[in-house]
Order: sequence, then C-alpha cells, then structure tokens
Amino acid sequence: MVEVSFLGGRSAALLTKHQKEKVIKPTLEKGTGCRLIVTTAYDTDLFGAFTREVARRGSQLAVARRKAQKAMELAGTELGVASEGSFGPHPAIPFLPFNREIVLLIDAKAKLEIRGECANSDTNFASAVVKNFTQAAEFANQARFPDHFLVLRPDSETHPELVKGINDWAWLKEALSWALAKSVNGQVFLETDMRALANPTRMQNIKKATIDLVAKLNSGCPGCKTPGFAIVAREPGLPCELCGFPTKEVAKLIFACQKCGYQVEKLGANKTAAAARCDYCNP
Ligand SMILES: [Zn+2]
Ligand SMILES: [Zn+2]
Repeated sequence: MVEVSFLGGRSAALLTKHQKEKVIKPTLEKGTGCRLIVTTAYDTDLFGAFTREVARRGSQLAVARRKAQKAMELAGTELGVASEGSFGPHPAIPFLPFNREIVLLIDAKAKLEIRGECANSDTNFASAVVKNFTQAAEFANQARFPDHFLVLRPDSETHPELVKGINDWAWLKEALSWALAKSVNGQVFLETDMRALANPTRMQNIKKATIDLVAKLNSGCPGCKTPGFAIVAREPGLPCELCGFPTKEVAKLIFACQKCGYQVEKLGANKTAAAARCDYCNP
C-alpha cells in the first residue's frame, strides 16, 4: 500500500470536555504529522450523555459527524476529529458487556470521512441497585473504583437528581447517604461513569480506535492515492480443513477506495477453517 501523509502540517480540530485529547492528540499528531487544536467551547453532553439527562439523537456515527462539524466550526479548520462511544451487551454473548469506540476524521476540503474503530468487551460497564454501603462497596470493587469513577441517584435509573464523577471512598459514602435519604423506595441506583476522563479502560479503547484511524489515514488507494483505503467487507466461505465445504469463516478481505471505487481482494490469514466450524463435519 502507498504511504501518504496528506495531513502533514495541517490543523485539525477536536471538541471534547472529557480530556479525550490525552490519547487522541499524541497518537494522531505522531502518526500523521497534523496539528490537533483542542477546543472545549461547546458542551458535548448536549449531543447526548451516558447518564441519560440528554438522549443521543441518531446513530453513534451521526453524532460523531455532528461533533466533528462543530469542532471545525469553532476552530475554523478544514479538518475535524470526533470520538463517540457506545456501551451495551455483547451482540453475540449477551451476558458480556461491549464497548464500541469510533474516532472519526472529516476532511471538508477533500470531502473525505475516515473512521477508526475499536470494539471489544474490555469495559467495566455495569449498574446495580443497592440498599447499603456494603452492597455499594461490592459493586465499586468490581467496577475498578476509585480509578474508574461512579455515578449514583436515588430510587432508579430515571431519577432526575444524580451525582457524577465519584472518585473516592469517603465521597461514595457521603453520596450514598444523600441518595438513601432522598429515596422513596430505600434503594440507590449505582452505575459506572463512562465518560473518558472517568474511565481509564475506555480511554485505552479510544486510543486503540485512534491507532486504527491513523493506520487507515496512512493507507492510500493504489489507484488515486486517496487516504482511507481500508477493509469494507469480509467474505465468508473459507473451506473446511477436512471436507473442503465452504464455512462461515472469512475467506477474503475486500479493500475499497471511497473516492474512485478501486477494489482489491485479499485472501485471509488462514487457508482452511477448523472442522469444528464446518456445518457439514460438525452440524
Ligand atoms: Zn482511489
Ligand atoms: Zn467439513
């Protein structure tokens, strides 16, 4: 693949009030030669908050686009960068938590959009209803508190009053007493704080998504040199090692250019699939 540095010497803007620049700025600047301008001039929680005071409108990608546009507008740049995360159950294994991070770069001049991603179960995302400090402490320990902050509110997840960013045991005790006193049902809703500054594990996933973005930015189209020449599809059909029957395992990777449509097919790392993955040998 062609090495390009189309960002070299250019300025990009990132809007964040949750310190995402800590991982995005060094990774992006070192990997592409651009200069990242960080702005905090707009409250990103207005695009949606994990603690539900503001519901997120539209998809994760749509919100990332709006944030990147806002950053460009505020900083007066032609390049905008934005990060947006989502949390929920794992799509295939519902008892596992799942985090998907997007770090998006928009080039308004070249009319390009390139997206770095990281998706895995490495997250403390969880919530619990507790009635006393012993139960709260048990949840806190599992949630990797106090390095990872907590949020709590009286009664249930919909209570309008909440305390965010709890990051020491004395504060947790105090906030719990406050919420128990306010509570109608004698319960407190406790959850992990998923904001980047409150969650070192999430910060690492944002870094991984930025590394993915840098790799895509540095991958130029063999046809027209446009950056972002990346995998757009994975084709199943890898033959079984025993019977040769096509399986659901990935056989081919399809790389494509979003500008000129140039496509390249590459064979996956494996030549055959394990018989355990074969519908014929292991129905
Ligand atoms: Zn191309
Ligand atoms: Zn087979």
